[in-house]
Amino acid sequence: MGRELRIAVIGAGPAGIYTADTLMKSGTPCSIDLFDRLPAPFGLVRDGVAPDHPRIKGIVGALHGVLSRPGVRLFGNVAYGRDLSLSDVRMLYDAVVVATGCERDRDLDIPGIDLPGSHGAADFVKWFDGHPDVPRDWSLGARHVGVIGAGNVALDVARVLAKQAEDMLVTEIPDNVHRGLAANRATDVHVFARRGLAQARFTPTELRELDRRSTRCPAPCPTPRAGSSTSTTSTSPASTPAAGSSADPSG
Ligand SMILES: Cc1cc2nc3c(=O)[nH]c(=O)nc-3n(C[C@H](O)[C@H](O)[C@H](O)COP(=O)(O)OP(=O)(O)OC[C@H]3O[C@@H](n4cnc5c(N)ncnc54)[C@H](O)[C@@H]3O)c2cc1C
Repeated sequence: MGRELRIAVIGAGPAGIYTADTLMKSGTPCSIDLFDRLPAPFGLVRDGVAPDHPRIKGIVGALHGVLSRPGVRLFGNVAYGRDLSLSDVRMLYDAVVVATGCERDRDLDIPGIDLPGSHGAADFVKWFDGHPDVPRDWSLGARHVGVIGAGNVALDVARVLAKQAEDMLVTEIPDNVHRGLAANRATDVHVFARRGLAQARFTPTELRELDRRSTRCPAPCPTPRAGSSTSTTSTSPASTPAAGSSADPSG
């Protein structure tokens, strides 16, 4: 083919942007249009990775570099399936790559999962990352919180709930999230894993971070107190058929 290829990438998260990067470096002359349903790019790096993990969020620098290249364009606020159909992109582009990620929690089929106070971790992490899809207010009225799952997301949720709100001020959390965390009444955060530590999916770094957190207490609290705890509990598969991460951070 004599002319440069026109390629559409749906989803401007890391997968979509690295796809653009790889295509631009491939030596095949091409131009790339990225479409995202949100006004801003970077997907779950912006709206999922915990705010107190600035080193990981720092990859947005590299992703931004790709978006700044000549031949790469970003169109925000364009939802595939709503504003753009497959026939539209097929008509306008030589190829289309769909990189829309995984935005929903895996279903957890246990009795009571739909009761008030039971939430999927996806919504909770979106709240503390200021994602536009979730309400701005989240009432953290529960004293005892169970986090089901033993991956990095579960530990992110447990750590954020166990931290002092002030410790999060060095991060980019929005004001409404800081207010919500300052009103957090949790005294005990329990992480439930269906198998043993050897099968845990979190990294040692995430686990160590739980140990380094400063203690949190229900406001007002004049001195750092003993009693705000995070425990990791390993249970049998029969008693906790956990799949994925589910948090219960409400009152
Ligand atoms: C709480 C949490 C913590 C994490 N912590 C870490 C970590 O510490 N280290 C690490 O390496 N990884 C971490 N991850 C994983 C990492 O964020 C993901 O692996 C990565 O973001 C996946 O990239 P992606 O591009 O496939 O999907 P996403 O990041 O989800 O990007 C998909 C993009 O597609 C867009 N989109 C969706 N539907 C449409 C549509 N219909 N039309 C147009 N656009 C659409 C979305 O708006 C989004 O921008 C974490 C994830 C979560 C949830």
